[in-house]
Amino acid sequence: MAEASPAPRILISNDDGIHAPGLQVLERIAARISDDVWVVAPERNNSGAGHSLTLRRPLRVRRAGERRYAVDGTPTDCVMLALQLIIRDRPVDLVLSGVNHGGNLGEDVTYSGTIAAAMEATLFKIRAVAMSQLLTSGEPVHWATAERFGPDIVRQVLTMPWPEDVLINVNFPDCPPDAVRGVRVTSQGRRKLGDDLVERLDPRGEPYVWIGALREDGSPREGTDIAATNAGWVSVTPLHMDMTHRPSFSALHQALGVSP
Ligand code: MN
Repeated sequence: MAEASPAPRILISNDDGIHAPGLQVLERIAARISDDVWVVAPERNNSGAGHSLTLRRPLRVRRAGERRYAVDGTPTDCVMLALQLIIRDRPVDLVLSGVNHGGNLGEDVTYSGTIAAAMEATLFKIRAVAMSQLLTSGEPVHWATAERFGPDIVRQVLTMPWPEDVLINVNFPDCPPDAVRGVRVTSQGRRKLGDDLVERLDPRGEPYVWIGALREDGSPREGTDIAATNAGWVSVTPLHMDMTHRPSFSALHQALGVSP
């Protein structure tokens, strides 16, 4: 008789840090899929770190429990160290990142450490899903929505033939689980007009700037992650690591006077 295939090995990480409530939500989501779950997450909040690597100082890995480690670096550092150093006896089958405190929609994906952890896994040719829970600042976060819909979405996307260089970006709407309308496959939207830059003087009279809230375009395109989550749908977006814009090739050939 053939041996039963072992449970998939899952690595989870995030950008909000090892103590973030969303990481606990993701641990519960992962536990519904496998009993071989490893956590390697940043010591501190790295939101907005993007796909940055720590190159100019050493990294410390702290064992924080059974199959649980904190790294004093970025989400990308965490995934790289997890896959090449920390977890060595058997390969990782799936990387889950999140659940982020707040959405990762539109151009957020270019700043997001949550997405970057999934990008790093994708570069290692490991399937990866990033998850984010939309919220309203100052109000309780509907983590139950991510927890209710997360496990099935992960199981379901794992049944598709996974294209090379692709990761999945999941955003849960800012509503209780019972108010969710369903799941939509979406494209990356666009909403950013600018950021509110707060310019003040520090207690010693020196000027500083603090990057504040995003100024949003209030009219999201249909079919985007932004429109879907606004309307109460879970948004699932396939993102591609190859950022080449092929439709520009012919215009560039012409502008540069070069042949294809
Ligand atoms: Mn974050």
